[in-house]
Order: sequence, then C-alpha cells, then structure tokens
Amino acid sequence: MKNKTYDAIMAGGGVMGCATAYYLMLEDPTLKVAIIEMDATYEKSSTVLSDANTRLQFNIKENIEISQYALEKLATFDKDMAVDGVKAKTAFRQEGNLFLTDAKNAADAKAGLAVQQNLGCDVKWLTPEEILAGYPLLSVDDIAGATFGALDGTMDPHAVLMGFKNKAIDLGAEFIEAEVAEITHEAGQVTGVKLTSDEKLSAKYVLNSAGGWATKLAKTAGVDLPINPVMRQVHIVEIAEQVEMQYPFTFFPSGIYFSQEHGSRFMCGKSFDNDPIGFDFVTNRRTFEERMWEDLVGHAPAFDRLKYIGAWAGLYAVNTFDGNAILGEYPTMKGLMLANGFSGHGFQQCHGVGRYLAELIRGVFPVLNLGIFSPQRILENKPVFEGHGKLV
Ligand SMILES: Cc1cc2nc3c(=O)[nH]c(=O)nc-3n(C[C@H](O)[C@H](O)[C@H](O)COP(=O)(O)OP(=O)(O)OC[C@H]3O[C@@H](n4cnc5c(N)ncnc54)[C@H](O)[C@@H]3O)c2cc1C
Repeated sequence: MKNKTYDAIMAGGGVMGCATAYYLMLEDPTLKVAIIEMDATYEKSSTVLSDANTRLQFNIKENIEISQYALEKLATFDKDMAVDGVKAKTAFRQEGNLFLTDAKNAADAKAGLAVQQNLGCDVKWLTPEEILAGYPLLSVDDIAGATFGALDGTMDPHAVLMGFKNKAIDLGAEFIEAEVAEITHEAGQVTGVKLTSDEKLSAKYVLNSAGGWATKLAKTAGVDLPINPVMRQVHIVEIAEQVEMQYPFTFFPSGIYFSQEHGSRFMCGKSFDNDPIGFDFVTNRRTFEERMWEDLVGHAPAFDRLKYIGAWAGLYAVNTFDGNAILGEYPTMKGLMLANGFSGHGFQQCHGVGRYLAELIRGVFPVLNLGIFSPQRILENKPVFEGHGKLV
C-alpha cells in the first residue's frame, strides 16, 4: 500500500496544531495538511483545561508582540472562523489582569511595565491606595503596587480550539483521529510519521504539537527536549460575601491567583515546585486547604468564609531550560518543527505561533520574527527568561 503523502503533518491537534494548520491552509489552500490527534474528545489536552487567559503583561518584547497580535485577531476571531455561517463563540471577556507586587519584585514589575508601555500597551501602575479603592476585596499589606492591563482577559478555550480546527478543515486540512507512534526520519531529514496502527504517512515537515506529550514524541526523532509534563490544579470556590463587581484576573506576589467566574464564584491556582511530573490528572482538595487557602486569605480576607466547589487538573508543558516556548525547526533534524514548552502561557500564543510556524513551513519571511525562541538557544545554552531566571 502506498503511503499517504502530505506537505505537513501536525502531530497533536490541540490549539497549536490546529492554529498552525489553519494558517497554512489560509495562506496556501493547495497544501496537503493533516492534523493527527489521539483523542478527539480532548479530555486531557491542556488547551481545554487551561484558564484561557491572555495578557500583554510580559517582559520579553516578542512575548508582548505575540499577545498584541492575539488581541488583534480576537477582535474578529468569531467571524473569521465561521463555517457555513456558524460563528465561533469565544466569549472573550476583557476584565483586565492585575499583578500585585511586593517591594522585592517591584523593580522587575516596573521594568516590564516600561517595555509594555514602550510597545504601546494599555498597562498602568496602581498604588496600594488605588488598588484598595478599586478592589475592596483585596488587602494591600506588604503590597508595593500593581500593574493593571485593561485589555487582558479570559475566554472559552474550547471555542478557540474548535474555531481553528473547524476552519482548518473547512479550508482543506484533514483531521485524523490516531496516535503518532513515531516521527520517521532518514539521514537527518524528517520523512513523516508512523501511527500506532502501523500505518505510515509521509511528509517533509512534521510539527511536534503534542503539548505535554512532546518530549516523548521528540525522542522518536532522536531529539531531547528540556520539557516536563507537570500537573497543575485549578480549584473552584464560592465565597460567602456577595460580590457585585467584576474583578480582574488577579495574581499575588506568592504566585497564587484568582479569576472570578461570576458573582462570588472564583477559580484559583498556584504552581508548586513539587507539582507531580507525569501524566497525573487527579486533583486533591487538600492542596487547596493546606497550601493555598491561608495564602489567599492573606491577600483577600473575604476568602476566609467559602464553600469548596471542586477542581480540575491539566498539564503544563514546563520548559525547564527557561520557561519560554521552543519554536521552529530543530537544528539537526530538517523538517522537524517544534511548537513546544509553553509552560503556563501557551494558549494565548496560538495566534502568533500558529502564523509563525506556518510561515516557516511555507518558507516565507515571518511577519513577526520569533527566532529568539529557536531551539538553537538550548544547544548554545542561551536561555531567555521572562524575569530574573523566572519560569512562567
Ligand atoms: C491548569 C492550566 C491553566 C492554564 N492557563 C493558561 C492561561 O490562562 N493562559 C495561557 O496562555 N495558557 C494557559 N495554560 C497553558 C496552555 O493550556 C498550553 O500552553 C496550551 O494549551 C498548549 O497547547 P498545545 O496545543 O501545545 O497542547 P494541548 O492542548 O495539550 O494539545 C496537544 C494535543 O496533542 C495530542 N497528542 C499528544 N501526543 C500525541 C500523539 N502521539 N499522537 C497524536 N496526538 C497526540 C494530545 O491529545 C493533545 O490534544 C494553562 C494550562 C493549564 C494546565
């Protein structure tokens, strides 16, 4: 039997695989593109388990520019992804992101703010008095100030994923529910993929878009990626106090955050250094009770009285090298394209990254050069950190 041949195969059909396929088909509808996804229900895909927040508040210029492009695209995303007149329903809610900072981290926050403002971002500094006046649930003990980005916000990640997926298929991409067993290669050039069914598909380009499973897949092409799948939990609580106003997505200096679902219902999370590595999705209520609750009450005293509603867990693909995305062709394996290691901020990057990878595959000059995130930096041991050695 002759192998099916494609121009490009997306190994993993989460938001990165589907966004890249969309941009490929949009720019060149003659291309043969396959999206291979091992679970079309997306039960464990990070995309659908994410908090789906997007923010301009990064320190690295390219990360900010990726978010600026995301905002531009989100303005018309629902309409752009319409198939047969049915629009996507992203429900983008620009409630703003508020990053509170303590004295120790204030200089870093202000340096980031300056970069953002120089790039024209609508982000401002709030004093402790302004924080208290605007957000009465919060305490400003030990708080030096905050940065507030009014255009940041949250949305329905499933709607974004389905938007890209359905539109890519509409434009001609093929969606295949199957598991990629290995990326095949010969003499330093990718030749395609072999599925667990033993079927082989040929392609000059294979994108590793396997999210938390990326390291396993890259190994089949002889490539070691510094990426661990790490379980992150999100807990839902309802506080006793009636909350009438809409709070921004709020981050506290310890790394704990909350996002108001509606009224008095909040979801909250925090990354811990010893979060389990592996494919663990089992949440533990005690993580909230013993490791997060007191921290939260310290910053927002009204969280003292609450009802615990539940939790979910998903995987961060943690780039242990520098916490940033790893994008582009692997230097020693022609045709092996990477969209990996997004850690906690990949969902919002799907627009810029999808466009960039499609440009690299098509061999055209990228509109936004993301070469700073090339895997070459790992081989040269030149990490690009967001803040002082900070993994985000
Ligand atoms: C709790 C949580 C909160 C988050 N919050 C945010 C946030 O607020 N903002 C933000 O920007 N980011 C956030 N993230 C990160 C974000 O979810 C990810 O960076 C992003 O979704 C990665 O997309 P992806 O397509 O690479 O991965 P995924 O969505 O995981 O997609 C990868 C796909 O590949 C498939 N796959 C794997 N191996 C194979 C194989 N061998 N063959 C075929 N298919 C395969 C999987 O089934 C999966 O569907 C969060 C993540 C978590 C877990």
